[in-house]
Amino acid sequence: MNWISEWALPKIQTWLGRREVPDNLWHKCPACEQMIFHRDLERSLHVCTHCGHHMRIPALKRVEYTLDPGFQRIELPKAPADPLRFRDQRKYADRLKEAQAKSGMDDAVVVAHGTVEGRRAVVAAFEFGFMGGSMGAGVGEAIVTAAKLAVLQDAPLIVFTASGGARMQEGAVSLMQMPRTVIATQMVKEAKLPFIVVLCDPTTGGVTASFAMLGDIQIAEPNALIGFAGARVIEQTVREKLPEGFQRAEYLLEHGILDMVVKRGAMRDTLARVISLLREPLLALAAPEEKPEAAAAEKPAPAESAAAVPAPPSAPAVKPVASPVPKAVPEA
Ligand SMILES: [Zn+2]
Repeated sequence: MNWISEWALPKIQTWLGRREVPDNLWHKCPACEQMIFHRDLERSLHVCTHCGHHMRIPALKRVEYTLDPGFQRIELPKAPADPLRFRDQRKYADRLKEAQAKSGMDDAVVVAHGTVEGRRAVVAAFEFGFMGGSMGAGVGEAIVTAAKLAVLQDAPLIVFTASGGARMQEGAVSLMQMPRTVIATQMVKEAKLPFIVVLCDPTTGGVTASFAMLGDIQIAEPNALIGFAGARVIEQTVREKLPEGFQRAEYLLEHGILDMVVKRGAMRDTLARVISLLREPLLALAAPEEKPEAAAAEKPAPAESAAAVPAPPSAPAVKPVASPVPKAVPEA
């Protein structure tokens, strides 16, 4: 027996064991390249424990991190798939099927309803892994559904955006989702419900140029890339070197495009506080002792934002980012 337990068993175990150890126990931070153990990463909500880099996360994780346990995911209405029968190197229908199989989602947005620290809310979250979170008819349908649900439930709408813009493969149909989503979020505002946008890395193109910049409260995650056109395209067009940190969340906060930049760990509390400030302002004012510092720091932001957006201090730098937004509204 001795040779079995001392020689053969360990040999078999190492032989089998090597195959069983999954290769995703350690993750490399894309910013600082340090290795992080998967359990630590889960605990830190996918924020690097070394440098604080906020990694991109799946849409369903966003919902889990935001809503209290017991939330309900909504089944979304089917949108016409591949309306143009588009084909580049591959058929769009094939690309779509592949993305659906990989993500287990029908399109790039998850919609759920539940509570944020006890306050009712409808959450829509973009999945960047699904064809770059691009907005086609399916995504438009998801945002419209989320907005209708918010109105029906008399609950605020929170949208986490992460998108490369319109989905080219759907051509004009994808561009039509811009006015469509703007009208949908307008319904929420007309029902006097808060519409909160959380811009995650990256939010660009047609999503930035439509509903994503029209929130009552504009929040972003640290260092998120937010813009319309890419920095290189702007640089070539204006023939000027762009400033440090251009199109990043902190830069936009400084220039009045955003109300807050909030770390992922504090997002849930912040959303709950914003909802309660907007929906129960008298109750929130009656109990200011609970969190005096936080409330004082964030409170002026919503009021200032409306005034700050139309007149950004450094016009040339901000203009490329801001210009599509006013255009999108009247057209809608
Ligand atoms: Zn890092």
